[in-house]
Formats: sequence, structure tokens, C-alpha cells
Amino acid sequence: MGSASAFMGGTKGSHIVLDHPELLAACNGREIFFEHTDGRIVLIYPMGDRVLVGTTDVDADMAEDAVCTESEIDYFFDLIGHVFPDITVDREQIVYTFSGVRPLPKHDATQPGFVSRDYRIERRAGAGQGGGAAVLSLVGGKWTTFRALAEHLSNDVLAELGVERKVSTAKLAIGGGAGFPDSEDGVQRWIKGHMAPGRDADRTAGLLTRYGTRAGEVISFLDAAPDRLLHSTRELSVRELEFMARNEQIGHLVDVLIRRTSLAFRGLVTGELLNEVAEILAGPLGWDAATRTSEITHAQEVLKRFHGVQVHSLVS
Ligand SMILES: Cc1cc2nc3c(=O)[nH]c(=O)nc-3n(C[C@H](O)[C@H](O)[C@H](O)COP(=O)(O)OP(=O)(O)OC[C@H]3O[C@@H](n4cnc5c(N)ncnc54)[C@H](O)[C@@H]3O)c2cc1C
Repeated sequence: MGSASAFMGGTKGSHIVLDHPELLAACNGREIFFEHTDGRIVLIYPMGDRVLVGTTDVDADMAEDAVCTESEIDYFFDLIGHVFPDITVDREQIVYTFSGVRPLPKHDATQPGFVSRDYRIERRAGAGQGGGAAVLSLVGGKWTTFRALAEHLSNDVLAELGVERKVSTAKLAIGGGAGFPDSEDGVQRWIKGHMAPGRDADRTAGLLTRYGTRAGEVISFLDAAPDRLLHSTRELSVRELEFMARNEQIGHLVDVLIRRTSLAFRGLVTGELLNEVAEILAGPLGWDAATRTSEITHAQEVLKRFHGVQVHSLVS
């Protein structure tokens, strides 16, 4: 807003996802969250049939891609060995890597792993061009705290404006969390109540996991016309992809793989899947044959460059 500031200083963090039944069994369904030898808090986290291991904390050069490096992988293998000295891990067992830059406060001499994870709100009186209104800058923030932080920030804005809060959303469940069953029994009842011929318990549970209670709306769409599961995965159907194309703002084929589903995260993307999803999306998204091919190439490039995943094209 025309006024220089230097509040932010991100640190890069990477994770790997392993297909490692022995490590998965050793976790025994529990997240292992501990202090590594360098004093940083790290985790080994069983997620379904995979194990997530993270994370690193290094100063980020925003001019470069945030990707998981070989030395970060060595760090992960080292921390696994710290907890499970008898388990061997191999790079072949990595099915996915991902990396991001945490929006942390600028930290100068503080080591990246020790920078505060709290957020703060900086107020500059009469900053902005023309020196009028105050500028509030949100510094830091996490997924787990985003609602508390939004409430705090809006309270500060209301105070600036001299306006009373009329409504609180503190207890309001949103999106797929609205009406979500609050017990395992309730989840099972929801699944049973939404099963149908051609939609077994696994598929119904998969929809509830993916959309939360919005799955009810998805299911109504699926049931409005004939549908079939894909040949390349039983976790998606033709109608569901059409639903995503209409309602879930898919820009690229790769969005379905890394943002709308966990197929890439779990190492389940194949050449066959790329072809089939691209073909089904082509109708609703108006892709011609050339666009379909370039979407497949783009997905392969993104998966390789940012996630260490090599997916070969099918030889036609
Ligand atoms: C290494 C690391 C560890 C973290 N650990 C924790 C933790 O333990 N606990 C916690 O609470 N938070 C943690 N966070 C923070 C948390 O990940 C973020 O707060 C959260 O993901 C923010 O969610 P979001 O939806 O706002 O943004 P994002 O999750 O960043 O989603 C934005 C999406 O938009 C896409 N996008 C961007 N530009 C475009 C465009 N032009 N067109 C189309 N798509 C676009 C991006 O690809 C991305 O998928 C961590 C972050 C990092 C990097």
C-alpha cells in the first residue's frame, strides 16, 4: 500500500510420503511427534496405507522452486533411524514429496526451526498512500489457527472503523464440516444411509472423506444420470469428474491429482489414469485433442518437478 515493510521471512519445509508396510505397522496407528537430535520437532505420521515424514526448516530463496532435495531426504531417513533403528528405508519407497514455504515472521539471526509459529498483527498508523487510514499487516499464520486469526483481525478492523460486531461465527461449522457426524457410529450411519447399488461402503466412505458432508450434494449429482467407476482407479467415477469440472474450479488435469484427490499423494497416478481423467474432463472443460495431450504433459512435468514422481505415458 505504498509503504515499505519487511515483516515476512519464509522458511522452506519438505515432506516425503512412503509406501513402507513395515514402518506403517511400527507406527501402530499413532503419529510419532518428537524432538530430533538438532532440537527440531519432526513427525512420522501414518496416513491410511502410507507414512508421511517431515519436516525440514531451511531459509527459503523465493527465486527458486520449493522442492524436496536429496539432503532433506537424508535428514528424513536419519530421523526415522533415530526412532526405529531396525527399519531400513529406501528411496524407492518414496511415492511423493512436497515442499512449501511457511509464511513466518522475518527472523534475522534466529535459526529457521526456532522462529515463532505464532502470528501477529502489525499496525501502522496513517501508512498507505496519502497517509490516511491505518494499515494492518498479518504476519505469520497457520492452518490450525486460521479461524482464530481471522476473528482477531476482523475485530481489529472493526475497532479501526469504530463499528460493533453484529455476528459471531465462532461456533459455525463450515463447508463439509457442517453437520459432520461427531462419532464413529455416526460416520458409519452416514455411510450406510448413502450407499446404493454400484456405490459400496468403501466408495461412499471415500466421498465422505473427500467432501465432508458436501458428499450428499455430490451423491445427488452422481445419482441423477448413469455413472461408472473409472478403469484406472475405483476412487473416482465419470460423473464425479463431471461434478468437479462444474463445481470445483479445475483449471488443469493436475488439479484433480494433487488438489481435489489424494491420488498423487499416495503414489497412485499412472499413465492410464492420466489418459482416462483427461479424456473424461475434455467434454465438460471443452478440451480438444491437442489440449488433452498438453494437459497430460503438464501433469507429468508438475509431478516430476515438484513431487519427485515420474509417470510414464502409455505407448499407444
Ligand atoms: C512446510 C510447512 C509446514 C506447515 N505445517 C503446518 C502445521 O503443522 N500446522 C498448521 O496449522 N499449518 C502448517 N503449515 C501452514 C499451512 O500449510 C497453511 O496455513 C495452509 O496450507 C494455508 O491454506 P490455504 O488454503 O490458505 O493456502 P494453500 O494451502 O497454499 O493453497 C493455495 C492453493 O492455491 C493454488 N494456487 C496458487 N496460485 C494459483 C493460481 N494462480 N491459480 C490456481 N491455483 C493457484 C496453490 O497451488 C495451492 O494449491 C505449514 C506450511 C508449510 C509450508
